[in-house]
Amino acid sequence: MIGVGILKGMAVTLRNFAGSYFETDRLTTVQYPEERDPLPENYRNFPFLIYDGGDPQAGLRCVACQICEKECPPQCIYIIKSKDKKPDYVGKPQFYPAVFDIDISVCMSCQICVEVCPFEAIKMDKDFELSQRERFNHLLFRKDQLSKSNDYYHKIHPIEADAVDKNLADAAAAAEAKKKAAAEVAAKAAAAKAAAATAPTKVESPESAAGSTSAPGQTPPETTKP
Ligand code: SF4
Ligand code: SF4
Repeated sequence: MIGVGILKGMAVTLRNFAGSYFETDRLTTVQYPEERDPLPENYRNFPFLIYDGGDPQAGLRCVACQICEKECPPQCIYIIKSKDKKPDYVGKPQFYPAVFDIDISVCMSCQICVEVCPFEAIKMDKDFELSQRERFNHLLFRKDQLSKSNDYYHKIHPIEADAVDKNLADAAAAAEAKKKAAAEVAAKAAAAKAAAATAPTKVESPESAAGSTSAPGQTPPETTKP
């Protein structure tokens, strides 16, 4: 019958409205902004840059490879690469962004920048209270404003941040093991080369030149008879 669904829906609303005076579980709204529901782990808003340690400049993971800038669909990321280098989390010298801007008024929160970043340097934030009265530039976020600590990342995405930390630690351990193995191979090669250089040069005797396989005064080796 037409309208039954509407009546059923209204009955649920009425039951919750009356019941909310007696059972707090039936209160489906909160008094925002004084009260806030916790955001789910996978909630995402706009991107931010992660740094390790206490110094945003020294610990910034971004190496200014500009992949995210190229892949961003609305082209709202703007990066200028540094001229010099600084060590990354495995100690390898890397470039860093001298300028890193994101125009939040254009960003569509697609997360593509996060997906394509090979350095776990950019992640999605949960901060949604970003409205501004001014129309221009106030939503153009600069590097300083975008940089947030790994502790902050753990606070907003604890499960994801743990997995990322593990990946980075595994990558660092693998890089260290590879470096150690390469050093061992190089040391062995150097030792072999040094041994070859110091070994006495063998001078062939006339007998050996004539086909003898034993040194003078020694019993020749036995030959196996068929
Ligand atoms: S979330 Fe999407 S639109 Fe926003 S900066 Fe990243 S790639 Fe660009
Ligand atoms: S955030 Fe990632 S992808 Fe973007 S420039 Fe930095 S390292 Fe490259």
